[in-house]
Formats: sequence, C-alpha cells, structure tokens
Amino acid sequence: TALPPGAPAAAVVDLAAIRHNVASLGARAGAPVMAVVKADAYGHGLLPCARAAVEGGATWLGVAQLAEALELRRAGITAPVLAWLTVPGDAFAEAVERGVDLAVSAPWALAEIAAAARATGRTARIQLKVDTGLNRNGVTVPDFPDLLEAALKLEAEEVVRVAGLFSHYAWADAPRHPTVARQTDLFTEAVALAEARGARLEVRHLANSAATLTNPAASFDLVRPGLAVYGLSPAPDLGSPADFDLRPAMSLLARVANVKGVAAGEGISYGHAYTTTADTRAALLPVGYADGLPRHAVNEGPAWLGGRRYRIAGRVCMDQVVLDLGRDHADTAEVSVGDVAILFGDGPSDGTGVPTAQDWAEVCGTINYEIVTRIGARVPRLYL
Ligand code: PLP
Repeated sequence: TALPPGAPAAAVVDLAAIRHNVASLGARAGAPVMAVVKADAYGHGLLPCARAAVEGGATWLGVAQLAEALELRRAGITAPVLAWLTVPGDAFAEAVERGVDLAVSAPWALAEIAAAARATGRTARIQLKVDTGLNRNGVTVPDFPDLLEAALKLEAEEVVRVAGLFSHYAWADAPRHPTVARQTDLFTEAVALAEARGARLEVRHLANSAATLTNPAASFDLVRPGLAVYGLSPAPDLGSPADFDLRPAMSLLARVANVKGVAAGEGISYGHAYTTTADTRAALLPVGYADGLPRHAVNEGPAWLGGRRYRIAGRVCMDQVVLDLGRDHADTAEVSVGDVAILFGDGPSDGTGVPTAQDWAEVCGTINYEIVTRIGARVPRLYL
C-alpha cells in the first residue's frame, strides 16, 4: 500500500484517476468540461486535483467561493475559472485583476463587481446565474430580464463582459423527474432571451455530474461535473463508478496501532454500543470523527484488512475506531500491528471487497459527497 512507514493514516489520491475521469466525462457528454474543484476538490486537495483535471482535458475550473478561485490563481493556474458563491464585500477587485469569471445571481453582486471593475480599470468577466427551479442561488426567471438589461448596459460601457449564462438542477440524479425537462426548457428560454437582447455568450452550461452522465440534452457548451471528477457515482441507483467509466480517486488508509484479546461479553468503545459475542481479538485504527469518519458509522463502518472485510465495533471516537476481528471471521490471527487497513477506496459496488465511499454513505445514512469532503485536515493527502 501507499501508506509511508510511520504514518498513522492518509488519504491517497490517484491523480491518474482524476485525469481519466475528466477525459471520460468529456467524451461521454461530447462537450468540454468545467471540473468543479470547490471544497478543496471535494476533500481531495485543491491544487493537485485542479492541475490533474486540466491535464485530463478540463478547459474550465469551477469553484464556489472566491477565495478558492484566488488560491488557484496565486498558485499559477491560468485556466479559466468561474466562482459562483460570493457575498457582499468579497474580494471582487482581486478577482477582476486576476481574470476570474464571477457569477452574478443578484443586483447587489452586479453593483459590487461593477464598482471593482471601475476601481481597477479592468473589464470584469461575469456569468449570469438563472434559477430555473432549484430555488437556491441565481436570479429568478421573472427577475432575469432586468438583471440581464443592467448587465448588458454595463457591458456597453465596457465595465463588464457578460461571458456566460448558467443554471443548476434540483433533481439531476433522477433524470426522468419532471423538473429536469422543465429546468432544461427554462434554461433554453433564458439563453434565447439573452441572445435576443444582444448578449454574446461564450458559454451556456447546466449539467452537474448526474446530468453529464445521464442526460445528453443538458450538455450545452460545457458540462460542470464535480463528484464524478473524483470517480464517485452521483446516482448510485443508476450506476456504479465502473458502469459510468469512472475510477474512484481517493483511498482512506489507516495503520493498525494495536491488536489485543477481548473476552466474550465485553463492551467495546464509549458507551459500550457493541458487545462481543465470543472471545475475540480487537484491532485499533487511528482514525476517528476528527478525521471525518461519521459517528453514524457505529458498528457498521467497513474496513478492508489483509484481504478481508471487517466492521467497526462500537462508536467512532475522535481519533480512533476498533474492529472486532472475530465478528465476521472465525480466524482472527491474520491481522498484526502495523498492517494497513483501507477504510474506503476503489472497490466493487456489491458490498464485497474493498469498501467504497458509497458503502460508508449507506451505513451512515448520507451521500458519498459527504464522506469524501469531510475527511479532516489532519489526514495527509498523498498523491499517486
Ligand atoms: N455546479 C454548481 C453550481 C454546483 O453548486 C455544483 C456542486 O454542488 C456542481 C456544479 C457540481 O455538482 P456535482 O458534484 O453533483 O457534479
């Protein structure tokens, strides 16, 4: 395994998988890819993953916060970047100077960006975000014409350049849900309206991972996948990563720190939420909820060790979890101190073999997105 000697745990990130996934998504969609690298590249590490995505063919990078876009620029990444979640007082002037595309979802943002453009003497690149039904960010369809007019007026003054128009789905992971076609239609109408009013859009985009994988009608000028870039399925009921030609990039590894005998009838970990049913051996892994393992994994979080699958016994602690080696296997002698466990990685989707982030999501009642993004800062990211 890739865990260096002496390291308690690491999230090993296979950058070749990220390059592969970007290329695969672009080929499948028949469109250029904006790789979404927000939230520290879904926990995988912003800069290495952004570079890998570009190497894999991504022509754009997408982030939520402006600070994330500026981190890319300060690191020398020159690919086009769009940031879509800003707040009043954000670092608009630096974003304009560094050529970051800024999403505009409301008049306040247009006003602040225009002021930053005037202050810096540069034309700000903006992309209008229209809310076609997610009812989260974006300007509503009724308010879109006014925001568009205001933006085009500033474009005529060379204060802004209205470079793009985009929206975001609510139900992309259920491609036949009626809102999907409705949002696609509303977006198509917004594009037509913008162009009829004289907008010279460079990019029109709507598709997140699920739409990229399941809905060719959503591709427009580029697709905007996040989760799938990291090799996870956004719709596990529709297909596994392998079904979608994706390779999970992150493996969470931990080294066995102790192995000892525990008698039958003993409780394990805080609150004794687990009780041994036979004399057994217990292995200690030095990862816990401070490292991002959800406490909801109590008694069920899987781990792969010595070619076998085990489960967590009892509660997830802040820094550690315990496996009851005898719970699922009669022979407990296989595991030794220093062995390396895989909490999740690139495994089959049938619940056997190396566990996946999806397996963890299922036992924790959450989604694979949350499993990888919450891996804590204490866990070093190692790159293959
Ligand atoms: N586009 C926008 C505006 C987003 O907020 C996100 C993430 O939530 C994405 C694209 C990527 O979504 P996914 O990770 O489901 O592909």
